[in-house]
Amino acid sequence: MRSEFLIFGKPVIEREEQDEVLDSMRRGWLGTGPKVAKFERDFATYKGASYAAALNSCTAALHLSLLALNLRKGDEVITTPMTFCASVNSIIHAGATPVLADVRPDTMNIDPDEIRKKITSRTRAILPVHFAGRACDMDAIMAIAGEHSLAVVEDCAHAIETEYRGRKAGTIGDFGCFSFYSTKNVVTGEGGLVITRKAEDNDRIKVLGLHGMSKDAWKRFSDAGFKHYDVVEAGFKYNMMDLQAAIGIHQLSRVEKNWKRREAIWQSYKRAFSGLPVDLPAPVESGTRHAYHLFTILVNAERAGISRDEFLDAMTREKIGVGVHYRSIPEHPYYQKTFGWRGEDYPHALKIGRETVSLPLSPGLSDADVNDVVAAVGKLAGGTAG
Ligand SMILES: *Cc1c(COP(=O)(O)O)cnc(C)c1O
Repeated sequence: MRSEFLIFGKPVIEREEQDEVLDSMRRGWLGTGPKVAKFERDFATYKGASYAAALNSCTAALHLSLLALNLRKGDEVITTPMTFCASVNSIIHAGATPVLADVRPDTMNIDPDEIRKKITSRTRAILPVHFAGRACDMDAIMAIAGEHSLAVVEDCAHAIETEYRGRKAGTIGDFGCFSFYSTKNVVTGEGGLVITRKAEDNDRIKVLGLHGMSKDAWKRFSDAGFKHYDVVEAGFKYNMMDLQAAIGIHQLSRVEKNWKRREAIWQSYKRAFSGLPVDLPAPVESGTRHAYHLFTILVNAERAGISRDEFLDAMTREKIGVGVHYRSIPEHPYYQKTFGWRGEDYPHALKIGRETVSLPLSPGLSDADVNDVVAAVGKLAGGTAG
């Protein structure tokens, strides 16, 4: 067995990030400033996006994108039950009502046919999540949005490198929301960003993200002369700091290198687990690029001879960190109480949520680490044949 615990989702931070953070400290400019501006430019360039607004989380990015739609009480936003709670909570905080449409069992992404069934006269937007980094069926989703004049907010927390039929995830809908949380594909500790096609959406998000103030606060302290600001809305404190952007600038420069490493690990897992009685990720759809954010297997107690929760415990005892992405949204008590949701009404998400396990996929894994994961999974989920 391994001697050291393999931390799930451990980021790879190199010398450049450390030096850049120290540079910010030595200059004494810690908050929103030139490094945030550079990170926004670099990210917009990487995605081929017109505008980018850096924020302190993807949750903030989702919240402000939905606020920019001027939703009213009773308006409905359709999203997936197979996501992190922030996707749903941001709809609630924007004053609208979340509506769930079940996922496809193979891709684990929101099913366009289920979206159609959930459209009402109150539907205003669709919030798809590119789950694990796999592109949603965006042609179908954009067609539905077009027919019903709905906005589309893409939750790209897993999807920095994702592409769909020649377009980059986050540039297809009206808003693309990204996360730089410590386990994501590009990290800033905590951090998020919205890309938009329209200048007015970008302006609105920047104003809402900094107290509703009309001018960039950091410009107030430059030598260009004193400037007053006006408060034009009751905004939020959602801005990214230069300390965070200092990390992100160098993380982003390595995004493709890290993607290649995760792709190699992904292929190793697919080969190694092909004979095991567990479900593996569906093949990547042609014409798309997977971001390889999560490698998830489904552990079914009857087939694998071990329950999912026993498997999680046993992997941890083998000193391998694992994750669950996610128990389905309707299984959480708040949503049951508030919206009357029941897991059984979203059967595909329910099953995935009860069987899914995420295996380590950090680009920092050594070949020996990957071998340890392969050996442990084979030992624990080998079923009767193993
Ligand atoms: C991580 C995540 C978020 C939230 O991102 P934060 O930056 O932590 O706010 C939202 N949606 C999904 C699908 C996520 O995985």
